[in-house]
Amino acid sequence: MSSVAPNVPFIQFLGAAGTVTGSRFLLNSPNAKVLIDCGMFQGLKELRLRNWDKFPVDPETIDAIVITHAHLDHSGYLPRLVKLGFRGRIFLTKYTGDLAEVILHDSARIQMEDAAYAAKKAYSKHNPPEALYNDQDVERTVRLFETRDFNQRVQVAEDAWVTFKPSGHILGAAYIDVEFAGKRLLFTGDMGRHDHPLLVAPGDIPAGQFDAIVTESTYGDREHAPTTANFQDSIRETIARGGSVLIPAFAVDRTEIILIRLRELMEAGEIPRVNVYADSPMALKALNFYRQAIDENSPEIRPEIAAEWSGRDPFDPGTLIELMTPDESKTINNPDRPCIIISASGMATGGRVVHHLRNMLPNPKHTVILVGYQAVGTRGRSLADGAEFVKMHGELVPVKAQIEQIQSFSVHADSNELIDWINSGGSQPKQVYVVHGESGAAEVFADRIHSQLGWHSHVPHIGEKVAL
Ligand SMILES: [Zn+2]
Repeated sequence: MSSVAPNVPFIQFLGAAGTVTGSRFLLNSPNAKVLIDCGMFQGLKELRLRNWDKFPVDPETIDAIVITHAHLDHSGYLPRLVKLGFRGRIFLTKYTGDLAEVILHDSARIQMEDAAYAAKKAYSKHNPPEALYNDQDVERTVRLFETRDFNQRVQVAEDAWVTFKPSGHILGAAYIDVEFAGKRLLFTGDMGRHDHPLLVAPGDIPAGQFDAIVTESTYGDREHAPTTANFQDSIRETIARGGSVLIPAFAVDRTEIILIRLRELMEAGEIPRVNVYADSPMALKALNFYRQAIDENSPEIRPEIAAEWSGRDPFDPGTLIELMTPDESKTINNPDRPCIIISASGMATGGRVVHHLRNMLPNPKHTVILVGYQAVGTRGRSLADGAEFVKMHGELVPVKAQIEQIQSFSVHADSNELIDWINSGGSQPKQVYVVHGESGAAEVFADRIHSQLGWHSHVPHIGEKVAL
């Protein structure tokens, strides 16, 4: 591990280094400790086990946490840190706070269910099996939330200010301009694209000199495929043969984008008006926050969307059915009439979508359309890679349904979009740190920054400390 001279402010990379998940970046000066994002590690077991590692600094000594957006890999470790003694304030935007509360309660439920299951099967390395956190930890976490508006300079600790700027990724999401111990840094969080149907595009990088930019690189080695007709073609063909379409979708944002697209396609007559089921309690709660943000003309909502849809529902093609309870969800097990089901989780690692997959995968009539990023080690990735069987509830389920993967719904900027964006401020930062990328993507993106822009770029390893 690199060493830093005493009294020099430094950043330590505590997650999303060499991997996509677990975003945690600690800013350290003699006067303050500020943690930027507090994400959970997800995906492969070796990553998930890192959530149990001892936190490298005493959580009580952290003054403040700043959260870029509500996704679990950016907020999901908060209740754990509170459980371990963090008592400072957590700064975030209004809708990041609202969505994080929903997402963290859902996460606590999964943690508790997993612990109970491990206790039953007696395979946990914790004896008795322990949940990473529970509902009470989430409630204590939410009480520490300090919501702040976009575009306002906010003091979060001694000699530490942040400004949230809309990043176009999900509702509430921000990139952040940070002033810390006389240094200026920019954290991209997760960078959205310019064509989100609801959210304003990220503006140019704020003017002036940055000492460091910490950029994500989820798609740092790739360009998104252009929008194709595959989505509507595949839905139309499936319905024509009497099958149904299952869309595993991240509960927050992807569900909204898909619903809008389905409404547009039905209005244009490109797909038949079949029932559309939104089958995820978390997605339905998030949906209401999106509706609220549109109604109140929130600054991250595109003005034309707020103007056109205020007081009306842009998510309902007229056939939307919201399934809140498990019993309601069961009514669409093995659908006998063609329909479209949108259900979470987006990578099919858990949630109601697993039951639908189990029912629908063995039937060649049906189609599963994957619309999001599928991390290594997930069922979604296995399906995308053409697996003939996937394991569910300890059973091998044959994959006979048609599997489609549509990239154009991504809410992450791709390599070209990211390069253009980090170069949009017109001045060269002293250093760029490339994080939040799976094996290879971060390195490829760092090389590209160096060769194309001539900037210093570096892919930090986990635990690395760098002087600012
Ligand atoms: Zn995200």
